[in-house]
Amino acid sequence: YRHGQASDVVVSTPQGDVPFGENHPLVVVAGPCSVETEEMITETALRVKAAGAKFLRGGAYKPRTSPYSFQGHGESALGLLAAAREKSGLGIITEIMDTADLPAVAEVADVIQIGARNMQNFALLKKVGAQDKPVLLKRGMSATIQEWLMAAEYILAEGNSQVILCERGIRTFDRKYTRNTLDLSVVPVLRTLTHLPVMIDPSHGTGWSQYVPAMAKGAIAVGADSLMIEVHPNPSKALSDGPQSLTPDQFDQLMKELAAIGKTV
Ligand code: PEP
Ligand code: MN
Repeated sequence: YRHGQASDVVVSTPQGDVPFGENHPLVVVAGPCSVETEEMITETALRVKAAGAKFLRGGAYKPRTSPYSFQGHGESALGLLAAAREKSGLGIITEIMDTADLPAVAEVADVIQIGARNMQNFALLKKVGAQDKPVLLKRGMSATIQEWLMAAEYILAEGNSQVILCERGIRTFDRKYTRNTLDLSVVPVLRTLTHLPVMIDPSHGTGWSQYVPAMAKGAIAVGADSLMIEVHPNPSKALSDGPQSLTPDQFDQLMKELAAIGKTV
């Protein structure tokens, strides 16, 4: 896995370069599952920025299990993310689902997300590998670590060395209590296999906001470089992933607790 090319992933944002890696502060990415309205994305951006997040996340194109569920506002949501970036100074992370959307997504995103469902969409991996925006590669919901690393290799092999790996939970037999099983063991395992930085997403990893703080702290304890946390101004009204979203106040509280325990936030 390209051990010879070890280098940190450094993402440029309106507020300057943000490095991801073992020797750098924890990078927190926060925001709603989906970009819904201008007001909600702006409010969320300003709140998570004030709490210490460096990136705003939010989906314009949503990979939903049902075709009848909210699919994201698409290109207009990219415009809202661009506006939130201007207002907050946060970097933007948003998901791409279709190679045809690459120019529009790359124009707004500071990091392009490949979601769990597209981890082995090799055409998409090659396309994001052949451009120069950093890529966040989520682990497929039933992917082995080897498959995940080979998916990353598709991006690296096209010439883009700026890849961040994100664990977001794997399929679990116990869906009664958690949406997925968040596999924190990937952090020490990946350290032996790759130089790529590792992000942990306890929001999708657990599916329930009440479990997010504990798993976020666990992620820091095992040495994660970064966290992705879903935050929504009114989770009960969210168009997607409300049950796993923290309110801005809960996110504030979590950031204070994280600062007290670990890699400086
Ligand atoms: C998301 O980040 O909102 C998302 C759809 O995540 P995943 O691909 O991990 O399910
Ligand atoms: Mn989500």
